[in-house]
Amino acid sequence: MPATAAGATAWLDRLNPEQREAVTYGEVSGGSVTAGPLLVIAGAGTGKTATLAHRVAWLVTQGVDPSRMLLLTFSRRAAEEMTRRAERLVAEAHAQAQALNRPGGRGSDIRVRLPWAGTFHAIGARLIREHAERVGLDRDFGILDRGDAADLLDVVRHELGLSAKARRFPRKDTCLAIYSYRVNAGLSLEQVLAREFPWCAEWHDDLRGLFRAYVERKLSHGVLDYDDLLLWWHAAMSDAELAAEIGAGFDQVLVDEFQDTNALQAQILSALKPDGQGVTVVGDDAQSIYGFRAADVDNILQFPQRFSPPAAKVMLTRNYRSVQPVLDAANQLIAEAKRQYPKTLTAARGDGARPRLVIVADERAQSDWVVQEVLARREEGVPLKQQAVLFRSSHHSDVLEVELVRRNIPYVKYGGLKFLEARHVKDVLSVLRWADNPKHGIAAFRALQLMDGIGPAIARRCFDQVQDGQRIGRGFDTLADIEAPAAAAGSWPDFCTMMRDLSRPGADWQGQLEQVVAWYRPLLEAAHDDAGVRAADLDMLIALAPRFGSRERFLTELTLDPPSASGDLAGEPLRDEDYLILSTVHSSKGQEWDSVSVLNVTDGNFPNEFSAGSEQGLEEERRLLYVAMTRAKNRLDLIEPQNFYVTQQPKFGDRHVRAARSRFLTGALRRVLQTVSPTDRQVGAGAGDRRTAGADKPKVDVASRMRGMW
Ligand code: ATP
Ligand code: MG
Repeated sequence: MPATAAGATAWLDRLNPEQREAVTYGEVSGGSVTAGPLLVIAGAGTGKTATLAHRVAWLVTQGVDPSRMLLLTFSRRAAEEMTRRAERLVAEAHAQAQALNRPGGRGSDIRVRLPWAGTFHAIGARLIREHAERVGLDRDFGILDRGDAADLLDVVRHELGLSAKARRFPRKDTCLAIYSYRVNAGLSLEQVLAREFPWCAEWHDDLRGLFRAYVERKLSHGVLDYDDLLLWWHAAMSDAELAAEIGAGFDQVLVDEFQDTNALQAQILSALKPDGQGVTVVGDDAQSIYGFRAADVDNILQFPQRFSPPAAKVMLTRNYRSVQPVLDAANQLIAEAKRQYPKTLTAARGDGARPRLVIVADERAQSDWVVQEVLARREEGVPLKQQAVLFRSSHHSDVLEVELVRRNIPYVKYGGLKFLEARHVKDVLSVLRWADNPKHGIAAFRALQLMDGIGPAIARRCFDQVQDGQRIGRGFDTLADIEAPAAAAGSWPDFCTMMRDLSRPGADWQGQLEQVVAWYRPLLEAAHDDAGVRAADLDMLIALAPRFGSRERFLTELTLDPPSASGDLAGEPLRDEDYLILSTVHSSKGQEWDSVSVLNVTDGNFPNEFSAGSEQGLEEERRLLYVAMTRAKNRLDLIEPQNFYVTQQPKFGDRHVRAARSRFLTGALRRVLQTVSPTDRQVGAGAGDRRTAGADKPKVDVASRMRGMW
């Protein structure tokens, strides 16, 4: 065991021996830590993330420069949380060192900034931008969110005449899913179609043509889509010199939730640190839930063997999160998995309440149950924020949300319709995006057509004018040379001035959003009856802006990891308020709450009907339920509505469908659950009743590689 910070190790004492081994892994000498590759593989709630946070703090106390640490997490929120935890730990280590009257190394510099903490995509965006010239990109490339990418693909699809085919060509979202899977899995288009989209196999040649045209279009617009951020980063890393340069910028690379990385991400990591020096990855194969986005659980299982000698492996078995009965249920569910790496969690916390299977009549009864239980828990002193309602698909919470609003129960929803998908928010951002990247045609067309009287033809003229202007160094100044149609007369002059101001090199980011919103507001009022509500969203966006140091960071971060709910955007003032958490299971990764309710645990919903067709899909659904169940500390309810009302066919009125029991609720699992079902009378009763149950020449020609892929 290597030495730890002189004398000041009490802060590490709360860790168990395996955790401590992982935290302090490596040889310390003269302010640096030499450590080979390390894998921490362990079940839910065993303190993997806690171990990673302690390791960051320990490395800092040993003298490792935090700005030379790369920390890859699942979300921006997780990166921020990890930074806060590490900072607290370093402060604690420092205080202990001071108490012993010994200098605490870097610990005396308590502010821990981890400038390189974020998701793979966000870090990729920054690195590509930093080395843009070397890969033949403009530094000011724009980033398309998934919605924009699908829309662009759709435009190309129309232009190629694919939408007019006699037999129906796959829709834009399916096309994007195929494209994305092929990119992330590193498989050929044939393989992807055969494996994942067999019903689209007949369209192979047309799809390839479509994707080629899509790549060309992105290059000409100077934009990258979400997948490109990994693809370009990966391609940049194929140049040995550039890879070594980028890798040398980081002494330590730490990755959380490693089970959900895909082939591209694993290869990027290898290229960054080919010998695995300084690499620590943590994860749980039983929680791999992104197979549908080409995540490959073999990345984590085969990690040790990728190195010679193999990576050190630390297993953690004590679960510090949940009471034993919750773990018994989770253990049973995962024990029934087809392909499993046996792992039984033991609760450090001991016994507690048995998780329940709550059988209710329908979704209304389900909402009533949840509301009533949530309020009862709150009476017992459990804040709403410590309670979560989880669901497989975003729309599963529709009925509940109506009830929460009616009862005035504040909530924040994660993983639902993203705030940035709202039209008015996209409108405002399109102006900033165009100013940020004059070639960004998609943003330009959106921004220009906001004005009355400006359609595609005039928008094209304006866009072309700016492109010509760019070549003679006048850029957006040339807009004012265009005479706008009479209908746009009210907004055009201000638009020209605004674009000139926003595109001035070195323009101050502060105040830009206000300027755009001020210009946009009259257009908003003219276009929408509910302009007031929408304006409030824009005010929130303005409040959020100063948190980002520059316009580019603001646009990048927001596109990559959009705030999922307006509550997420509200920032400080709302922080003290209490609110219930609603979240998709996917977005609940890594988190924990005192009480968890899982909605719609019925066949077709959980497992999802679209995933139930293949064994692979089904097993992923099982792991999803495992993730949901292992979020609970003390109480867990799986709720099973027996009936659903389907309103697809207005002509026939509402249809009443009897739900089938989820295939995951086997006899063995039910035996460890407590089944409760409210009586018929109670289920039919009104809401609220108490119920009984509950650079110059490009060095690496990435562009031609991208073209060559298709
Ligand atoms: P997941 O697989 O869900 O991501 P995890 O393995 O990352 O879980 P953490 O979130 O790090 O687990 O830890 C789960 C809980 O256990 C947290 O509340 C954490 O503070 C607590 N914990 C971790 N290690 C210890 C320990 N040694 N002593 C007491 N509590 C601990
Ligand atoms: Mg974790």
